[in-house]
Parts: sequence; structure tokens; C-alpha cells
Amino acid sequence: MISQQKPLIESLKDQQEIFGDLLFEEIQTKSATDLPEETISMKSSKKIEVELNNNLFQEDFQSAKSLKELDSLIHDCQKCALGKTRNKFVFGVGNPNATAMLIGEAPGADEDAQGEPFVGRAGKLLNDILKALDMKREEVYIANILKCRPPNNRDPLPSEEDTCKPHLLKQIELIKPKIILCLGRVAANALLGKKLSLTDLRENIYDLDGIKVFATYHPAALLRNPHWKRGCWEDFKKFKKLYDELSVN
Ligand code: SF4
Repeated sequence: MISQQKPLIESLKDQQEIFGDLLFEEIQTKSATDLPEETISMKSSKKIEVELNNNLFQEDFQSAKSLKELDSLIHDCQKCALGKTRNKFVFGVGNPNATAMLIGEAPGADEDAQGEPFVGRAGKLLNDILKALDMKREEVYIANILKCRPPNNRDPLPSEEDTCKPHLLKQIELIKPKIILCLGRVAANALLGKKLSLTDLRENIYDLDGIKVFATYHPAALLRNPHWKRGCWEDFKKFKKLYDELSVN
């Protein structure tokens, strides 16, 4: 019984990844051919400005002058219940002066065990996509909205996102990326303060205080639904094109 339920639960999770809170409304009105196998052209992307305001959060770690200092100030964090259940705090990894950041929602089991974001099968797929774009994992900075793993890989709670997000905003302030690619609906909505479907998020380029922000599929969703790879690949190519343009300026 449990083994029959698992694919159904995974499938529903994937549908939620695409449609978000519009899950049931949109499924009722969309035909199967509307599902996002077809890439949404980013040529017609709207540019939407979003404010990055970390001044609301006056906390000790705001004084950090480097990622290393920030890590040392927050790695024992117990500000939400996930601090008690994590194995390892997952700060982030990569180039501290990166032009691009890749942001996911939260550590999974492999990340929780190793203390690094995007390892395991999803991380390998992400590395492969970057390699195909002639990019190295080490040249970007990779982090999550949450630094600790939610039990059973459930979605982060809004309260957890609100509590942990200032850590990420401080990382962004220190790294000063020119471009951010959000991996998955949850990460994009949390960063941008939106409640949109991934389909809607992928249509736009957001401007977060001068930083260009895109959204695409989470690699774990691609492992479950390989037919989404094509759309994801188009998103990554768009990201790389802008990355190359911004890297020379
Ligand atoms: S998830 Fe974030 S806010 Fe919660 S304990 Fe971990 S670091 Fe602290």
C-alpha cells in the first residue's frame, strides 16, 4: 500500500512544484497538453522590480564583513525548530565573489549529512547542467533559503522561511551577485516574496535591487520528470546568456 502511495505523492508534489497554490484551480482548467513540456519563451519576459530589504532584520550577524564571519555567527542557530533536528548546518558553497548565485529551498538528506547544498543525485544533475553550459560549480555560489533540513523533505513553513531568509539576504549582500537563478517554485517565491506558480515565475525576469532573478525547475523534480529537462535547459541557456553578458561588464 505504502509503495503504491509513494508515486502518487511524488506526482502530486511535482504538480505542486509547477502549479503551486493554484494546483487544483489550474488542473481543472488546463488540459494535459498545457502542462509545461513546452518551454515558455523568455523572449517576451516581463521585467518586474522587487525590493530587497534586509534592514528590517537588525540582528548580530548583520555586522559580518565576510561569508566566513557570517557562517561563524549563525552556524549554531536555533531560531526555529529545525535547529534541533538537523544533523549539519548547510551554509552554502562556492565563489564568495560570484557573479551568479543558485538558490534552492532547503537541504535534503544528503545535504544534511554532508553540510553542503546540492550534493547527491540532484546535485550531480545540477553539476552536469552547469558543465554542459561550460560553467563550473566552483565559479557560482550555491545556497538555500533554509540552512537546516525540514523533516522528511517537506516544504519549508512560511515561519521558517521568514526566520531564516535574513541569513540568505546577508549572504547576497556580501557576495553581490549580478544574477540569481532560483531552483524551484518554493525558493523563488520565498526570495521574491511572491505566491506564484512556477509556470508564472519562469515567464519573468525579476529585478531584486539591481540583481536579475530567474526561476527554473528544482533538479530533484527533473529526476522524477525527465520530460521537464527541455524547459529547464532553455531556462539555463537564458541564464547563461545573461551571465556571460554581465560577467564582461
Ligand atoms: S533553518 Fe535557519 S532559522 Fe531555523 S535553525 Fe536553521 S539556520 Fe536557524
